[in-house]
Amino acid sequence: MISVSQALDLLFDLAGPLPAETVPLSQANGRILAAPVTARRDQPPFAASAMDGYGVQADGVAPDATYQVIGEAAAGHGFDGTVNAGQAVRIFTGAPVPKGVDRVIIQEDTTRDGDTITLSDTLDRGFHIRPAGGDFRNGQQVEAPLRLRPADIALLAAMNIADVPVVRKPRVAILSTGDELVMPGETPGPDQIIASNTFGLQAMLRDLGAEARMLPIARDTRESLEMAFSLVDDADLLITIGGASVGDHDLVGDVAQDLGMQRSFYKIAMRPGKPLMAGRLASGAMMIGLPGNPVSAMVCGQIFVIPVLRAMLGLGSAPAPTQQAPLAHPIDANGPREHYMRARFDNGVLTVFDNQDSSLLSFLSQANALVIRPPNDPAQAMGAQVAFLPI
Ligand code: AMP
Ligand code: MG
Repeated sequence: MISVSQALDLLFDLAGPLPAETVPLSQANGRILAAPVTARRDQPPFAASAMDGYGVQADGVAPDATYQVIGEAAAGHGFDGTVNAGQAVRIFTGAPVPKGVDRVIIQEDTTRDGDTITLSDTLDRGFHIRPAGGDFRNGQQVEAPLRLRPADIALLAAMNIADVPVVRKPRVAILSTGDELVMPGETPGPDQIIASNTFGLQAMLRDLGAEARMLPIARDTRESLEMAFSLVDDADLLITIGGASVGDHDLVGDVAQDLGMQRSFYKIAMRPGKPLMAGRLASGAMMIGLPGNPVSAMVCGQIFVIPVLRAMLGLGSAPAPTQQAPLAHPIDANGPREHYMRARFDNGVLTVFDNQDSSLLSFLSQANALVIRPPNDPAQAMGAQVAFLPI
């Protein structure tokens, strides 16, 4: 059995970065920027007024001074002339600042009578002019890789970038296996249960920006599994769930290998999730075979599938980032396998659940952290700092 970090390295060997594609800006949110993009203009492209008021020469501004209003500059409609001493232009937020103007007197500091304005006896000290290029300059770059957020989308729009190079979405096929499984909403027979981690994993993958589709549930027969494998098509990654142990009905590994899968590894020294399998299918797709137990499958999703997807998206090959926090109570020594314990992280301390059975989704749903115990970690006292993964 190999360690978690050895398994991750082998998985990264299988997970190449995906190619880029171009999408319209309106489709780019949440996608990974694949190459740096460059501003096509200065923003603002001209010195612009930051307030509604009057544009004047800063020299000569004094309480009670008077000016003659000679024109107007609005957003989208500049004033063409030059403003000399004693003259003012009515100006609005976003308007280009006319020649000669280097200060905007806010409207509240003026009184107007016909074409004459008089400044107040006390004046706001701001000049209220946004310099040209004050936000960004032509040629300025947004670096890749970057998961684009709404603020980035606004920035790219302002840079006049209408089409965005992004990493193609990873195409993932998810295959549940087992005679006992039916889909949510169906009526299970007396010996059946509902396929659950299938949906949890699909949600996890979609959160990361993958296209995750479910194949029909495969039964525990060679024919049914072969049929399911034939539907993998152009997927970059096949995730199988269940059927990977040593039971008589655990056929996934055998069938995959008979169909040409080159196995990279099988079995990891971890809890939950020992019967994990990975390799490359004849189609070129990567395959990860997850254990069927619902919590095992979801934990392996966090520890292995998410980092693999990040690698495919060009975000680097690194384990899921952990944090450290003190334990709210003592915990027993760990066995020989790395253990990912369901826990709560609240108010800066970790409470590890008593029941760590890998079939219990209700506890996983209550957990917001996995406390990571190295192999043979001794008992830990209350207050001991331990590593955990927020989930
Ligand atoms: P297996 O790895 O196929 O032996 O499955 C281990 C356990 O996980 C069994 O109790 C299965 O019923 C259960 N199981 C397998 N696949 C799923 C699934 N997609 N959703 C929920 N439970 C599953
Ligand atoms: Mg099974």
